[in-house]
Amino acid sequence: MFNKNFTLLFVFLFFFSCANDKATTISSLPIVETPVPILIPIPTVVSYPIDFDTLKWVELDRLMPDIIIDLKYATEDNFVEEQMYECPRAFLRPKAANTLAKVQEELKTKGFNLKILDAYRPRPVQQRLWNKVPDRRYVAPPAKGSMHNRGAAVDLTLADMNGNELDMGTAYDYFGREAWPEYQDLPKEVLANRLVLRETMLKYGFNPTRSEWWHYSMNGTGFGLSDWEWSCVTEISQKKE
Ligand SMILES: [Zn+2]
Repeated sequence: MFNKNFTLLFVFLFFFSCANDKATTISSLPIVETPVPILIPIPTVVSYPIDFDTLKWVELDRLMPDIIIDLKYATEDNFVEEQMYECPRAFLRPKAANTLAKVQEELKTKGFNLKILDAYRPRPVQQRLWNKVPDRRYVAPPAKGSMHNRGAAVDLTLADMNGNELDMGTAYDYFGREAWPEYQDLPKEVLANRLVLRETMLKYGFNPTRSEWWHYSMNGTGFGLSDWEWSCVTEISQKKE
């Protein structure tokens, strides 16, 4: 952005000075003081090209610019300890994404922010997970697929308005009773945090699961399993400008 503006400024000044030189050669004309151009800084708007079908997908941080995206499968900080996504981009089907935006708006009025841990998971990634852990207790078989493969499930937690993650009692993808929503032998603060997330998600029509406090899904988004994988070529470098 800076270089582009600077180039435009240079081109402008070049033509401006040429025009001025030409004007001074016509001595019969009155000399008019040319006002010095006032350069108004143009606010930097981060924009990067849409490279997906917007009828089928919504990228969450385009819809909710202040949402925190922290996809654990784009790192090695996950239960298979291997990076499964080439880059962290979070997509959901339009109905689920637009509903999540309502959740986010309500939570913001209460001083919370959503942090997305996983969203749409392409089925080829599901296959790679299955190849690594072929156990139905932990990974849905790709042939059957999961709500994540439909773009209708999201794994998420709460942060405060400074981006600090709140205590939910267990890590993401912790496989044990402590992660069950019905498990109550936890500090009051943890139970309160889980309740805020749960009540708000349920209010707008997301469904919980019995074994993971972080997982919510939405029925009836109108789309099935998907093999589509997002691009990583230009998006991330442009997002970081
Ligand atoms: Zn999930």
